[in-house]
Amino acid sequence: MNIPYRPIVWTIAGSDSGGGAGIQADLRAIDALHCHGASVITALTAQNSTSVQRVEAVSPTMLNAQCQALAADLPPRAIKTGMLGNAAHLMHIVEWIERLRQQHGAHPLVVDPVLAASSGHSFADDALLQAYQTHLLPAACVLTPNRQEAARLAGMPPLHTDHDVEACARRLQYHPQQTVVITGGDCTGSQSQDYLLSPQAQGWLNLPRVDTPHSHGSGCSFASAIAAALAHGHPAADAVILAKMAVQQGLQHSYAAGSGRGPVHLSP
Ligand code: PLP
Repeated sequence: MNIPYRPIVWTIAGSDSGGGAGIQADLRAIDALHCHGASVITALTAQNSTSVQRVEAVSPTMLNAQCQALAADLPPRAIKTGMLGNAAHLMHIVEWIERLRQQHGAHPLVVDPVLAASSGHSFADDALLQAYQTHLLPAACVLTPNRQEAARLAGMPPLHTDHDVEACARRLQYHPQQTVVITGGDCTGSQSQDYLLSPQAQGWLNLPRVDTPHSHGSGCSFASAIAAALAHGHPAADAVILAKMAVQQGLQHSYAAGSGRGPVHLSP
């Protein structure tokens, strides 16, 4: 019998009770790209389609227990991190990533540095920002900040011009093997414009912006789709392009749920 196989992708991220973003979006995107998604939940959010109302990080014991359980049975081919809760969680995660590397060999890491929701709710204090800069960004294979997050992480003023974005990507590339994609999901305009800086390729990835208010979870889905494509063995620049196409299609199939922003919907 030919037993179907799917590469395992871990998403280490926050739960969105509204089902639009976070872990819930990640698992849909990973499934859409024919991988098996396993999740390490860093924080719970009480949120719906209009706002984030409460955030509570899980205990460090529970964070480590999830990693322990997965490491023993479901080691990852790629990992994606999203909302991390706090700096202490980030440090535990960095330790787990190193331990997994030693036990199972190198696996690509996609870091989506979620610092705030589109609705404005902040998910990161200064300690977490600093921990990203010092410990997690240097370990990333692919980094997917939006423009606001990229500027904060690079310690730059708001990015207005293409030149600003390109300079910021160079500043966030800690070593030449890394890929940085600064996404334009937080911009307006007729084009969705992401800047890609990778060992294989660099330049602007432009697609017509899908005219929908229902884009909740598109950043999470993009980073998860990149991790899934990497788990299948695609080089980073190809993984980014595949993920951009998958999210574009997901936006075309997004739908209303609640009175605010409905979710992007990636399907196989
Ligand atoms: N909630 C959680 C748990 C998330 O991880 C994220 C984003 O990454 C969001 C909310 C915000 O999603 P959006 O920016 O699409 O509103």
